[in-house]
Order: sequence, then structure tokens, then C-alpha cells
Amino acid sequence: MKYTVEKVTTLIGARRIGNTDANIGWLLTDSRSLCFPEETLFFAIRTERNDGHRYIPELYRRGVRNFVVEKVPEDGAALFPGTNFLKVVRPIEALQRLAERHRDEFGIPVIGITGSNGKTVVKEWLYQLLSPSFVVTRSPRSYNSQVGVPLSVWLMHEHTQIGIFEAGISEPGEMSALHDIIQPTIGVITNIGDAHQENFNTLEDKCNEKLKLFRDSKVIVYPADNHVIARCVEASGYRGRRVAWSATDPRAALYVKNISKTGTTTTVTYIYKGIEARYELPFIDEASVENSITCAAVALHIGLSHDTLATRMAAIEPVAMRLEVKEGRHGCTLINDSYNSDINSLDIALDFMNRRPDHAGRRRTLILSDICQSGKNGAELYTEVSGLARKRGVEKLIGIGTDITAYADRIDINEKHFFSDTDTFVASDVFRSLRDEVILLKGARCFCFDRLTELLEQKVHETILEVNLDAVVNNLNHFRSFLKPDTKIVCMVKANAYGSGAVEVAKTLQNHRVDYLAVAVADEGVTLRKAGITANIMIMNPEMTAFKTMFDYDLEPEVYSFRLLDALIAAAGKEGITGYPVHIKLDTGMHRLGFNPETDIDRLIKRLKGQNAIIPRSVFSHFVGSDSDDFDTFSAMQFERFDKASRKLQEAFTHKILRHIDNSAGIEHFPERQLDMCRLGLGLYGIDSRDNSIINNVCTLKTTILQLRNVPKDETVGYSRRGILTRDSVIAAIPIGYADGLNRHLGRGHGYCLVNGKRAPYVGNICMDVAMIDVTDIDCHEGDTVEIFGDNLPVTVLSDILDTIPYEVLTGVSERVKRVYFY
Ligand SMILES: *Cc1c(COP(=O)(O)O)cnc(C)c1O
Repeated sequence: MKYTVEKVTTLIGARRIGNTDANIGWLLTDSRSLCFPEETLFFAIRTERNDGHRYIPELYRRGVRNFVVEKVPEDGAALFPGTNFLKVVRPIEALQRLAERHRDEFGIPVIGITGSNGKTVVKEWLYQLLSPSFVVTRSPRSYNSQVGVPLSVWLMHEHTQIGIFEAGISEPGEMSALHDIIQPTIGVITNIGDAHQENFNTLEDKCNEKLKLFRDSKVIVYPADNHVIARCVEASGYRGRRVAWSATDPRAALYVKNISKTGTTTTVTYIYKGIEARYELPFIDEASVENSITCAAVALHIGLSHDTLATRMAAIEPVAMRLEVKEGRHGCTLINDSYNSDINSLDIALDFMNRRPDHAGRRRTLILSDICQSGKNGAELYTEVSGLARKRGVEKLIGIGTDITAYADRIDINEKHFFSDTDTFVASDVFRSLRDEVILLKGARCFCFDRLTELLEQKVHETILEVNLDAVVNNLNHFRSFLKPDTKIVCMVKANAYGSGAVEVAKTLQNHRVDYLAVAVADEGVTLRKAGITANIMIMNPEMTAFKTMFDYDLEPEVYSFRLLDALIAAAGKEGITGYPVHIKLDTGMHRLGFNPETDIDRLIKRLKGQNAIIPRSVFSHFVGSDSDDFDTFSAMQFERFDKASRKLQEAFTHKILRHIDNSAGIEHFPERQLDMCRLGLGLYGIDSRDNSIINNVCTLKTTILQLRNVPKDETVGYSRRGILTRDSVIAAIPIGYADGLNRHLGRGHGYCLVNGKRAPYVGNICMDVAMIDVTDIDCHEGDTVEIFGDNLPVTVLSDILDTIPYEVLTGVSERVKRVYFY
């Protein structure tokens, strides 16, 4: 459904400057996601951190001609001919208004889902339950914010029969806007818990805010056994129909009479409208069972028969929330999105692939199965797929399935191949000849793309370090929240990004527009450049032998001594370089590296002013103890020294020299000392060095049980007979040893890992490549996963046992441990 720009102007009450005709099909709030410039309307949203107006020139260059703005750029008509500027007071509100008007066009059931947990799973499962019978439009992934919800609602099209949208809030007052946009006819609340509690006084406050989403719904579905929710619904004066479900109250609309579990399935017996029925669910965990009951209540209300519900429940699939990036064979990178095969999630995955910086010259390949249940006819659908893929830079498309094959002529991509099924593809030359490509795999589950991924993947090691890139972003934002909007950030990706892997982490950070990346040595910088990183890169320990490399790869060295400074000036001079940016380090108390702020500064200024090969881009120092209050007096002294000397340096130059001293702990503890820029290290990887707590865990080191054996009492385990057994024991061998970074001091019962959630102590000495653990009291099997540290066992537990700091444990994970990244 397209709207003329004229109509949009009226709908959002804008003042239009410019009179070019245009049809709007796409709404854009993030310039990186641009796909169809001619039909795109960009909303220049101002946030605490960013300002969309900045991206207008870039988007104009890329062909966008329609902008919703707060301020029309100066000389807009002259600089951007042929453009429509729609001027409004707040572009984000205009976006919401437009989505609201779009929603008004539909007199169909719209399901609004809120709650603390399970929103996305309930949304996806409802989609699985309903989409065989209806054309459903739903929020992509978890687009549930003030911006995500309008973008989701905008996706409803002329064939849509049911809408399903998530609404997430983090602060009081947000739900009202989401209510107007979604206008749910069926409200669903999953549960209520502590997420985002910091902005609410009580659980009731939060629940009441959430219930605002449903004030005009015809029906609400909720768990009556949750007393907070039940009380709040009662008190809300809600007049519509209540479909409460309960496992304790037979009067509830959906009474869950019995829940029984066997091995891998759960049978739920329920009574709805006086009829007793049951369904089987292929999951046994508590959350899944609860989510399935919520879904059942909605589906029954919509009119699904008991039989249909049971059939579809039995086939319900897990919701993969992760988009994985893996190293493939023959130089390929695999982006595995098993989320779902539909056009909206395809677009998001393509966008993700397209945004990742990558080696120049590597082809982008899409392996795509038939797309099911779009409500569009095949010709229309695959034409759209082709358009999206082309715009997102796909150069090769491999279609798998009879449907996509039938519409092969609609796919307008340079190189294309079609196969009726996955096996035929695997047996083909096309499969064998995949080389040096970035491959996006997107397939409906029935096409078994898991097998494909397995075949394409480099041999998976049993010990892996899983790296959660979303957590990196959340940590970045956590620390940004302490800073003023225009304070710059250097992200420390030295030591292979504290062990997590510099390239993928740097790609993620660059995508979030951090100002600088910092590595220790020039080679680390070169690796990043070769991987396509274009952000500014600082080299903290530049080697005298690597100046030429730094110039060639645009790496900006730190300078800490006159010897280094003179050598650098000479090297730059020899290359005929002028104005090369460097970063001046002052030693304010660490007594490691740096110029003396008292005695060196005049000479430093004189030396810098007497040449033009390099210029100071920034000046900085480092706290010795920002992580502990014990050193507050010393930190204050360090700051004073730095402040004085760095001001003096600045005064000697007319250009701006960025001043920075705060590291992660400093950002939190001394935000008033943020100056122009901060250097974020450990915090990015989720550890708060002030109290050793975990902010958002990034790295999880995992392995598997290789072998289990029963070993009798009084036998010993491992080298030098140090693991003496005091009882008959079950001992598991795991393929990780000190050569992988598992510190030998954790052995002999000093440390433990987790097996199926339970603690398993290390028995005897840890070997080079293998360790033994005691699993006598744990129900486990060969092949089970073992967590060395991570999501459930904080790395700080290990560093405390080892009497060291988490930095050492993280950076100690050796290079041979394969890193697996996910979003
Ligand atoms: C490593 C490093 C940082 C980051 O410190 P964290 O405690 O990890 O935040 C900051 N500045 C310098 C100079 C560093 O070497």
C-alpha cells in the first residue's frame, strides 16, 4: 500500500516545502537500512544520542527525496533540489501518527501483546498457529519500541487478515502512544516481572501501565493465577470480554485441568466453553508451557477448533532468536537466520548482511527456500524478493523449493540457480563451488537448512567461546547513558577485544558509530582494516618498526616519549606526510608510559610546533584506581595534573585537541571527568570492574562431555595422582585444558564448571588439552554441554578463585578456541 506524499503530508499535519510528486512505500529511521530510495520517507528523529538530520545529505546522495524533519536544512531548496521536506514539531510523533492512520484503514482483528517475558515467543507461536488459516502481518523480530511498533504496523497490507504486534515499554507513559498505533482488538498480557523495573515504583504500577494498551480492546487474555495481573485487571474497570486462563480456578474462561510431562513433550488438558480437550506440546520447560497456554487461549477465542489447535501445537517450532555469524569452509562467512522464512524477516536479514563491512570483492550470496504464507501471489512475491535482494547487494541467488523454482524468471539477479530441494542442491556443483562468499541462509524449517549449515560450516570444535554481540551493544549503551550526548567514545578492542574476537566486535561497534577503536599493536589494526573496518583506529603501543604500516593503513599511534616522537616525525617526514594524527599520553601516576605533565610539557609543545609531519589529535592519561573508592584522592590528584597539562597543550594550538582520561570504571564513577572522550574497555564486555558484577554477559566458554566413567573410591584421577577420590565417583573428561586458557590453578577442586546447571568441580590436575570433572551428583550424558564460564557462571567467579582480575581470564582464552558470534 502506497501513499502519495501529498496524502502523507495531510495525515501527519506537516508543512510541506518542495513539490515533487512521489509515492511512499517505505518508512526509514535508520539511514543504514535504506533499500528503495525513490519510495522512501526518512524520519529525521532526534534522540539523546543522535540526530537524524545529520544523515540527510548522505541519504540525498543515495537518492532519497522525501524527509520528515524538525528543521529544514539551511539552503535546503538549493542544496537538495527536487526534495520534499515535511516539517513537523517532532518527527517521531509524525511517524507514530502515520502508522496510526495506516492502522485506521484496517477493520480486522489485531492482537497486541505485552508482558515482561515471552512476548516474542507468543507472537511467533501465534503466527505459527494462525498463519495456515489467515494472512498474518506481525512485528519483525522484537520490534516493540516507540519506533519499532510504528514500523511494524506500517507493514500491514491489503491482504492482511490478522495483525500481531508486540509492545514493549521501559518507562511510565509510553504505552499510550503504542495503544493508539496498534489499537488492539485482542489484548494479550503474558506475565509481569522485574524487567525494566527501575523506572516503576511497584509491579502494580508497571502492570497498570501495560494494561493501558488494552483499554479499548474487545477482549483481553491474561493469566489469572498471576495475582498482580488479576488484581490490576480487576481494578482497571475494564469492560470488555475477559479470557483469563488458570490452572487453579475452574471458573476461568480457559481452565487448565492438568499438565503432564513425559520426556520431551507436555500434555495440556483444558476446558474451554464447557468442552474438555487436550494438546501436546513438544517442549517441557515451564515458560514454554505457559506461553503455549496463552497462545491456546487466543487461538480458541479466534475460532480455531480444538483439533486444529492440537495438530498445530504438536508441530510448533522453537523460536530461534539468534542470527548467527559463522566461519564457513573455503573462505565463506555464513549468516544463519533460521528465524522464519517470510518476506519481512528476509528483509531484515538482508539488511544485516548488507551492513556488515566485509573484505572487498567477496560476493554476497543468498540461499533462500520457498516463502510460505505471504498472502501474495507467487509472481508478485518473488518479484518483490528479487527487488529486495538486488537492492541489498545480493549478487548470487540460490533458490530451493518448487515454488521459487516456478518463479525463477521473476528473479532478476546476475547469477541464479534453482533446486527442487535441499538434497539436490547439496549434490550439485553449485554447492561444491561455493568459495569466498558471504552467504545468507534463509529457509523455512521444512527445508532442513540446519543440515546445509552443518555441511558448510568449518568443522565445529567441541570447545567454543560464544560471543553475544547484542550484549556488546547493550553494554555500550549502558555506558553511553552516563555520558553527555556529544562525548566521544573510544572502544578498546585490544587483545583481540578482551578475548572475544576483535573483527566481529569491531564490525558491531562501527555499525553503532563509535568514534574510535583502540588496539595495542599495529598488526591488530591491520587485521581490522583488512576486514573492512573504516572507523578511526588508535594504536596504544606503537612499535618503532611499524610506522610505515601505520601510515599505509591509517592507524593513529599513541605517543608517550620524546624518543618515539622524534622517530615518528622522522618517519612521517621521510614519507612526505604532513598532519598525521597522533595521541599524546601523559603519565599522571601510573608510572608506566607517558610524558611527565610537569617537566615535559613545554618541551613537548615546542617540539610539536616545530614540525608539521604530525598533529596532536588527542591528549590523554589513565587512572590507576578508578575501580575503587580507596583511590579517590589519588584519582583526583591524577585528574588535576592531567587537566592542567592538557589545557596547556590545547592553548598552544588553534585546532581542537580531544582530552580524555576516563576508562570503564571512570565513566561510571567519575562521569564529571568525561571531558571530550572516554575509553571503554572491560565494561563493553559486560563486567563492572567496580563491584565485579555482570552488566550484560558477552562471552560464554563452552565445551562438551567427551567421556563418562565410573571410578571407585580410593582411585586417583589425572597426572601425579592428585585427584584422590573419597567416594565412588562418576568422572567426566572434557576437551579443554590449560592450552585453551583453562587456568591450571582451577584444578584439584579449586574451581568448578556447570553441567546441566549444576556445579562440577575439577578433579586432579588440569591437563594441557583435557580436564576431568566430578559429575557424581549430576544427571548427565556424553555429549552434554559444559559451561566453563559465561551466562550462568560469571567469569568473575573464576577470577576471584584465581585471585586475579576478569581481564586475565577473558584474554587468556587461547586463539585455538573457536569463537561463535550471535545476535
Ligand atoms: C585498556 C585501557 C583502557 C580500558 O580500561 P578498562 O578498565 O578496560 O575500561 C583505557 N585506557 C587505556 C590507556 C588502556 O590501556
